[in-house]
Amino acid sequence: MISIAIIYPEILGTYGDRGNALALAYRLKERGIENQIVEVMARDAIPSSCDIYMMGGGEDNAQTLATSLLLEQKKTIDEIANKSLLLAVCAGFQILGKQFPIAEGKLFNGLDIIDVTTIAGSPRIIGEVKSKCLIEGIGELTGFENHGGRTILGANAKPLGYVSSGMGNGIELTSQKFIDGYFSNNIYATYMHGPLFARNPKFCDYLISKITGIETLSEIENDLAIDLHKERIAI
Ligand code: GLN
Repeated sequence: MISIAIIYPEILGTYGDRGNALALAYRLKERGIENQIVEVMARDAIPSSCDIYMMGGGEDNAQTLATSLLLEQKKTIDEIANKSLLLAVCAGFQILGKQFPIAEGKLFNGLDIIDVTTIAGSPRIIGEVKSKCLIEGIGELTGFENHGGRTILGANAKPLGYVSSGMGNGIELTSQKFIDGYFSNNIYATYMHGPLFARNPKFCDYLISKITGIETLSEIENDLAIDLHKERIAI
């Protein structure tokens, strides 16, 4: 049984990122792989035994509240970050890092799990975003971004993709080269809402292969996610 945890869906849920868990559960079910979604609500003890954990986006206040609650369970979070898969979107991405901006130019401490720091930026970045994913075989990613923060990667941190339209992390690496997100062996972060997995079935299947050890997954009949991906990439 594959367990998919959504961390604080009622706080980090504004942008529909719970859809990542639904898309993942659907793609597992279509392959005959049993799975369950575990909703970890604010103040619940976070189980450490799930296969994949997801953190979505949220407004600034929701983001600081979620971070304060998560810091109370830092030991469990560290354990998860060492051994399970973790997908973090937008506010979730910022929370995993060292710091992110709050009101009046102040910074709030994040979970310090990944080597990224977010600073305030203007204007707010809103719109469609596409990137060329740096994980081999995934190709282009598509999503919708809506954030004020600009995220700087530490010297050895790798972006999830090179942005081809939109702004992603919002910091130009070299002239005209924006990047989006972050990835390591088991942690994946991005600014892409959408939800990400509903728009990017290849990326979702890549993680299914990682979780299950099944290299070649069967095709899904009438896979609407493939059509959606094509349609969004074409715009
Ligand atoms: N509050 C954060 C920002 O604006 C994250 C927003 C989001 O999760 N979409 O940068």
